[in-house]
Amino acid sequence: SQRVKIKQVLHDDAVQYTATVKGWVRTFRSNRFIALNDGSTNNNLQVVVDFENTDPAILKRITTGAAISATGTIVASQGSGQKVELQATSIEILGDSDPEKYPLQPKKHSLEFLREIAHLRFRTNTFGAVFRVRHTLAYAVHKFFNDKGFVYLHTPIITASDAEGAGEMFRVTTFDPQKPPVTEEGKVDWKEDFFGRATNLTVSGQLEGETGAMAFGEIYTFGPTFRAENSNTARHLAEFWMIEPEMAFYNLEDNMNLAEEFIKYVIRYALEHNREDLEFLGARLAEEEKSKPQAERSEMGLIEKLEFVLNNDFMRITYTEAIDILKNSKPNKNKKFQYMVEEWGTDLQSEHERYLVEKHFKKPVILTDYPAAIKSFYMKQNEDGKTVRAMDILFPGIGEIVGGSQREENLDKLVHKMEELGLPVEEMYWYLDTRRFGSAEHSGFGLGFERLVLFVTGMTNIRDVIPFPRTPKNAEF
Ligand code: ATP
Ligand code: MG
Ligand code: MG
Ligand code: MG
Repeated sequence: SQRVKIKQVLHDDAVQYTATVKGWVRTFRSNRFIALNDGSTNNNLQVVVDFENTDPAILKRITTGAAISATGTIVASQGSGQKVELQATSIEILGDSDPEKYPLQPKKHSLEFLREIAHLRFRTNTFGAVFRVRHTLAYAVHKFFNDKGFVYLHTPIITASDAEGAGEMFRVTTFDPQKPPVTEEGKVDWKEDFFGRATNLTVSGQLEGETGAMAFGEIYTFGPTFRAENSNTARHLAEFWMIEPEMAFYNLEDNMNLAEEFIKYVIRYALEHNREDLEFLGARLAEEEKSKPQAERSEMGLIEKLEFVLNNDFMRITYTEAIDILKNSKPNKNKKFQYMVEEWGTDLQSEHERYLVEKHFKKPVILTDYPAAIKSFYMKQNEDGKTVRAMDILFPGIGEIVGGSQREENLDKLVHKMEELGLPVEEMYWYLDTRRFGSAEHSGFGLGFERLVLFVTGMTNIRDVIPFPRTPKNAEF
């Protein structure tokens, strides 16, 4: 008989048919009951072993972690907590697992411990659910943009441009670090390097994406992005995935509307297609909440929180209005938000962002019109001469999830700004060409995919929502 997936078996509820399932043993009790998991769902299939007619040597090899194939009849189940189970007539061991050495014991492991065995943590319920949800969200991203007629444009991973000018780049070079060629002045001679110039891993595909938008109208990128973030936060990775749509003929409002529609779409898609996993993650979270003091417990469960986002408009306010709110706010008792006084012109700390979202408005917030000095050179300058058409979307428990803007389409203003900041105007002729030849109003944003996955799964550390996290001093697997 053909292999069927456990999710299918449990979903169909059909009985009295012959099936083969293959997967990894979670537990084996009383020499009789195998809890088998094949990764298609968190729900294990109970496989009942006909132990009287099974070779004792085989029984011994049914250990936690072992890969097996089981064939038999799917029957109605009395005791397993599931409607059906497999009455096995034959068990084949595909791959043994030494129970003494297998790191995943049939008990609850801490997330910290599991991070150290990232290559095995997919076999746990929590990470099974997280990465199935991640998959669904990634699929929904493509579906959303495809259905709207956006072109998926692959921007380069290796680039000479540092889009943000933030300097958090990973250099790409073929030089021997011990003895790179040097110029007469004793500086590293990048002209001698592979590309004939200094290059780095991309920190954003936006600038290249803009050139695509100015031809296709609407494009998006969805790819790996690299930043040498030297801090160890629960929100930053050195390698993360960013979704960056870029749209010609969109102003800031169109941009915000698209971002809000997009976020709601992918969350709804996950709720519809990964309900079981989200319910599991919700229950896990509720369990964790119980161990917190009453005052710190969240008011909503995971599913409730996701539905709340779907059913409410995001709050839209300007940076200036946000500063006024922060200035008038009082430090709160449990000191979670202690530095509330802010001066106009400074960038918001994540605790300010979280105050606005979690305490003040109690919903996602879109902040617009930031001071030009704290935002990137390419953002459209407002009439006031002080602010730019930027927007950040802030989410509860996360802080910034999206950064975007309407782009400056005026060549003179853009060049002037670049000169002011000492950016290489000549070298970026290719970017400026979009303003030289057929410039038009356009906008875009960047959404950190892992921050979205964090929000949807209710996990709290970004290392737990990417299969193989890259953080300072951590690139083992
Ligand atoms: P932050 O203020 O959190 O450092 P940022 O303003 O530097 O973020 P942007 O350059 O605006 O980030 O990038 C767009 C989006 O990419 C952010 O809103 C965030 O969702 C995500 N992002 C940025 N840096 C990281 C990172 N190191 N790891 C994961 N996601 C990130
Ligand atoms: Mg940053
Ligand atoms: Mg930021
Ligand atoms: Mg930003």
